[in-house]
Amino acid sequence: MSKLFNDSNKKGYQAKESRYDKMNYRRSGKSGLLLPEISLGLWHNFGSTDDFKNAENLLKCAFDNGITHFDLANNYGPPYGSAESTFGKILKKDFKPYRDELIISTKAGWDMWPGPYGNFGSRKYLISSLDQSLQRMGLDYVDIFYHHRPDPETPMEETMGALDHIVRQGKALYVGISQYSAEDTLKATKILKDLGTPCLIHQPRYSMLDRWVEGGLLDVLENKGVGAIAFSPLNQGILTDKYLAGFPEDSRAVKDGRYLKTDQIDEALILKVKQLNEIALSRGQSLAQMAIAWLLKDKRITSVLVGASRTEQLLDSLKALENLEFSKETLIKIEGILK
Ligand code: NDP
Repeated sequence: MSKLFNDSNKKGYQAKESRYDKMNYRRSGKSGLLLPEISLGLWHNFGSTDDFKNAENLLKCAFDNGITHFDLANNYGPPYGSAESTFGKILKKDFKPYRDELIISTKAGWDMWPGPYGNFGSRKYLISSLDQSLQRMGLDYVDIFYHHRPDPETPMEETMGALDHIVRQGKALYVGISQYSAEDTLKATKILKDLGTPCLIHQPRYSMLDRWVEGGLLDVLENKGVGAIAFSPLNQGILTDKYLAGFPEDSRAVKDGRYLKTDQIDEALILKVKQLNEIALSRGQSLAQMAIAWLLKDKRITSVLVGASRTEQLLDSLKALENLEFSKETLIKIEGILK
């Protein structure tokens, strides 16, 4: 890397200079924005009840390995808002000199504060929520602002109008949508295009165990030139070897249980995961690595948005990038297990 951009002038944390050699970046749809093949989400492990040092280490480890994109939402915690506050503290302490090397996203759409204005998709909610998020993170703008989920009652023109307004205010550089069906995505992208603020990206849940996006959404995104970032690619940890021999005390299912419960992980599921694990091992990968590679084999996927509770997990997941190729036979075997 050019000496002109040598980081050694920066005080405190200095990111590894080799970071950009370790990552590939994919264009988000037909936009100008490149995102790392693996992004890090702060849904879990960044709340004020979590270990701050661990959170800081996770972010440094990510950036040192070329992960430039960090994904948040107003209600990540617990408690709500606290992941953004933790992130803001770490940004101020370690990442200030690197702001222009980072893509920071946040969202609003789920319940955030009491009363009729802290949920769903009104202009009132989205604009005031982003103002709160910016304050918590100590930022002037986010790179991507998402509507977090469709609102069946607010006119889509109002929600998309709020996203367009936010960009024109300079509070977000790009906008995206999350969890929208293929049909709603078509509508939303048309409204945004007409307003002059193209939809940058869609954030759906997508993993080997949850493939709803293959029923039309990915085609819509490709046709409309919108990127796709797959969340919960490991199905919250199920697509790893962690639950193969029972329920570890420090796993999300046991220690958290809000979104992943032990009774969701039954014997039939573990049988499938065991078979997938065998295939991963035969490829020289961990199951987490294979689950990530399996998503990235599709060029329509801009980035895979992982979570991690420890840096070791993130480092393990990053090794997925060493082998994204699948033979026809392996894909057929995987289909056989998943059907
Ligand atoms: P994953 O499916 O990647 O699950 C992450 C969890 O899996 C970790 O916390 C850890 O769990 C376990 N894990 C991760 N890597 C490994 C590994 N290599 N080996 C073993 N176990 C591993 O993603 P998340 O469900 O965390 O979601 C990722 C991000 O997606 C969120 O942070 C958020 O940004 C976004 N998201 C968006 C949503 C939306 O509506 N738009 C909804 C949900 C998430 P453990 O604690 O058990 O160690």
